[in-house]
Amino acid sequence: MHRDFPFTLIAGPCSIESESLLLEVAQEVRELGGTALRGGIHKMRTRPEAFQGLGQEALAIVKKAKIQTGLPIVSEITDPRQLEAFEDHVDVYQVGARNMHNTELLKELGRINKPILLKRGLSAYLDELLHAAEYIVRGGNSRILLCERGIRTYERALRNTLDLAAIPYLQERCDFPVLVDPSHATGVARYVTPMACAAIAAGADGILVEVHPRPSEALSDSEQALTFPEFRQLVERVGQLARTLGRELARPGTIPGAQAHARKELRS
Ligand code: PEP
Ligand code: MN
Repeated sequence: MHRDFPFTLIAGPCSIESESLLLEVAQEVRELGGTALRGGIHKMRTRPEAFQGLGQEALAIVKKAKIQTGLPIVSEITDPRQLEAFEDHVDVYQVGARNMHNTELLKELGRINKPILLKRGLSAYLDELLHAAEYIVRGGNSRILLCERGIRTYERALRNTLDLAAIPYLQERCDFPVLVDPSHATGVARYVTPMACAAIAAGADGILVEVHPRPSEALSDSEQALTFPEFRQLVERVGQLARTLGRELARPGTIPGAQAHARKELRS
């Protein structure tokens, strides 16, 4: 069974590193028909000495990118104290894998009227992801997109293990769009397009991918960032598959399934 969400393509840099970087990527995402622009304002890095994101400084940059491209902005909220600053700048609030179990954050996000892109925790069961979504729904916000971003398994050859069966499993149990993030799932740029293709073939409602004009200079996740030519190839291949599968691509600027729904019962 497939629900009728148009296929969503969310792309952008892992972190917003500077105005010029975000505007350059935003232009590219816009030109290639992307649905929304991603970019981290606050980063939850493993090491404290690593780049933590520009924070507040990124808000003006985000605003400019939005005005120039008309693309909605997807960015991770790492703490409820960011809610006020995000209100006028960020359109889709991402809950990162490291915060999927942060129930106080989830409760706060239940009280707002913005779509939430909820990522699966590093070692979370699929049912735990559904319960996390339920926290948000209970607060009154049912505008949720779920995201499979790879999980930790015994296999250490890649950054994570992409759990493709999560797509039909989640789709059977909820009415939210189910996206796949092949960038974090693999951690290797050249595997991103094949896994994006696998995701759409398995029925995913969209993908979230990291793009950087000069990946080797990226301040976070440089190994998995697609160059512009690689991103173009991904869009071409995913587009071909979408046509073959009779899937419609989401119009730029729209976040499918993220409009307020009258009913979003979880069937877990
Ligand atoms: C990200 O999208 O940049 C990110 C940090 O993802 P995750 O929470 O899935 O690791
Ligand atoms: Mn990243």
